[in-house]
Amino acid sequence: MRTPLVIGNWKMHGTSASNHQLLEQLLPLLKPDTQVAIAVCPPYPYLSQVKAMIGGNLALGAQNLNMQEKGAHTGEVSGPMLKDTGCRYVLVGHSERREIYGESDLIIAEKFAVAVASELIPVLCVGETLKQRKTGQSIEVVSSQIKSVIQRNGIQSFANAVIAYEPVWAIGTGETATPAQAQEVHQKIRELIGEYDISIAETLPLLYGGSVNASNATSLFNQPDVDGGLVGGASLNAESFAAICQAAS
Ligand code: PEP
Repeated sequence: MRTPLVIGNWKMHGTSASNHQLLEQLLPLLKPDTQVAIAVCPPYPYLSQVKAMIGGNLALGAQNLNMQEKGAHTGEVSGPMLKDTGCRYVLVGHSERREIYGESDLIIAEKFAVAVASELIPVLCVGETLKQRKTGQSIEVVSSQIKSVIQRNGIQSFANAVIAYEPVWAIGTGETATPAQAQEVHQKIRELIGEYDISIAETLPLLYGGSVNASNATSLFNQPDVDGGLVGGASLNAESFAAICQAAS
């Protein structure tokens, strides 16, 4: 039995005032008794502010971490620092990190290792581009992104991890994978993990991300291998995000 999980990725948005307002609106809308784990990932400067306001089944996550645990890395933030700040989750390998900041599978595998060593739950983001989907490479691309992390860290590193399937063409575009498209890839991911360890495959939460909103969440989350969502734009609106969390319950 997998607990549904919904994670809001605030990306590089917000101010102290707008975060406060968003959480003040959101918190009363989240039903305390729902069997859904929820997290929000604000930008680094606001982690402590958000941590001070949340609790219960709403946890804190970060959007990125450095591949080193400490050292002379001006401008970077480490896994242990995120843990110390109260984070439970950390996104690893979001497509914006891969595409805009050139993060390779190798770097992402190193970051995943640091997240695990820091006792954070890594949320490994994988997904194909539109060109790759159109040329029938979706499964191959996603499998290879996951395998590079398994090769570096071993399958046991997924015992307390999350994978988010986020087709790049669906992120921030308003275009969503159909429930059938999401299910097809999620099923293949679970099968792939199962080739290494069947019990990890059965318990590993697989999130869908890519223009999830209050209207499409239920049909996506109803798919047997979709255990919740990684939500960007819609997580900045309290009513939409609460509705998405409700859809996962
Ligand atoms: C994301 O940032 O991971 C994401 C899925 O964004 P959006 O929901 O806006 O497509």
